Amino acid sequence: MSTKLSVEKKGFFGEFGGQYVPPELEASLNHVAEAYEELRSDPSFQDELGYYLREYSGRPTPLYHAERLSQKLGGAQIFLKREDLNHTGSHKINNVLGQALMAKRMGAKRVIAETGAGQHGVATATACALLDMECVVYMGAHDADRQRLNVFRMELLGAKVVRVTTGGQRLKEAVDAALEDFAQNYRTTFYVLGSAVGPYPYPDIVRDFQSVIGREARAQILEKTGKLPDYLVACVGGGSNAIGLFAPFYGDSEVRMVGCEPGGTGSALGQNAAALTYGVPAIIHGFKCYALIGEDGTPAPTTSIAAGLDYPGAGPEHSFYRATGRAEYVTVSDEEALDAFQVLTKAEGIIPALESAHAVAHALKLAPKLAKNQVVIVNLSGRGDKDADQVLQLLKG
Ligand SMILES: *Cc1c(COP(=O)(O)O)cnc(C)c1O
Repeated sequence: MSTKLSVEKKGFFGEFGGQYVPPELEASLNHVAEAYEELRSDPSFQDELGYYLREYSGRPTPLYHAERLSQKLGGAQIFLKREDLNHTGSHKINNVLGQALMAKRMGAKRVIAETGAGQHGVATATACALLDMECVVYMGAHDADRQRLNVFRMELLGAKVVRVTTGGQRLKEAVDAALEDFAQNYRTTFYVLGSAVGPYPYPDIVRDFQSVIGREARAQILEKTGKLPDYLVACVGGGSNAIGLFAPFYGDSEVRMVGCEPGGTGSALGQNAAALTYGVPAIIHGFKCYALIGEDGTPAPTTSIAAGLDYPGAGPEHSFYRATGRAEYVTVSDEEALDAFQVLTKAEGIIPALESAHAVAHALKLAPKLAKNQVVIVNLSGRGDKDADQVLQLLKG
C-alpha cells in the first residue's frame, strides 16, 4: 500500500503543483518545507498530534453502515466516514491541529490564516485557543458581512479578524493578504493553509494530515467487511477531505475513486466551481492545477450552494489523478445537493454539510446501479447545522 505518490522535487504531481511564487515568498515556503521534512518523521511530533486528534477531536471517527439508506436505494452498501463528528464539525480540524502543532514546534509566536465562509478560520482560531497562540484571520469584507456569526466565533476564541477591503473583498483577496503577511513575517509567523492547494509544500502537508481519514477508513472497512471497498466518494472544493480519503487507497487499483465537484446551476463559466470538469491546466495562487479561467487569464468567478466548495481551482494531486485517470470527477448540481441533504437527513437522522451533500448526491445515483454486496464509502466531511438557516431560506423562500 502506498499512502503517497513519489513526489519529485518541490512537490510536482506530474506537471501539476510546484511553487510558482515571487522570490520574497520562496524563503517563507522553504522554511516551512524544511521544518516539515523533520517533523513528519519525528515520533514525538506524531505522538503529540495523535494525542490531540484522539483526546481533543474525538478520533477515530466511526465508519457507519447506513443500512436504511442502502436498503432504500436497493443496491450497494453505503458506509459513511463520519468526519462530521469531529470537534468543530468537520475534517478541517485534522489539518489545522497538525499545522498549529508545527507552528508551535517551529517557535512561531503568531499564526495567520485565510478564510472564505469562515469554517477554516474558526478551526484555526480553535487550535490557537487550545495551544495558546496569537491568531490573525484574514477575511474578505464581503464574506465577513455575510458570515457575522463565524466572525463572532473567531473573536470569542481570541482571534483577530482582519477585514480585507481590496478588490472583490472575498477569499481571493484574503489569500493575497495572508501571503503578503507571511512573506514579511515568516520568521515569527506560521501560515495555516486550509486545503490541499497552494504552492509546495502545502499540498503535501495538508494531504498527509488529512490522510488519517483514509487510513482509518481502510482499516475499518477491512474489519467490517473483510475486503476493500468498491468505491470512494468525496466532495472536492480545494480537495483536502477527498485526497485525505483517497491517498491511502492510491495503490489499491481495484478501488475506484470519485470526486464530486460543485456543478452549481449550469456548465457555463461563472455558474459552477467544477475546476476538474470544466477547467484547463493553469497556474493560479502559486501552483499548477486544473482551474476555471476567465477571458483575461485570471481565475474566474465561481458559484456553489456550498460556500466551502466555491474555489476556482482544485489541488495538484487531484489534477494529477484526473489527468492520469486514477480518479473520476463528476459534477453535482446545487439542486441535487439540496435534495441529498434532505434524503440523508430523513433516512439516517444525519444532517450533512451542503458540501458533503454533493458526495451523498452522487452515492444516491451510484448505489442503485451496483450489486448488494458492493461497498461505497462516502466521506461525510462535515455536519449541516451551519447550513440549516440557508436551507430554510431556499426551501421556504
Ligand atoms: C471546507 C469544507 C469542504 C471543502 O474543502 P476540501 O478542502 O475540498 O475538503 C468540504 N466539506 C466541508 C464540511 C468543509 O467545511
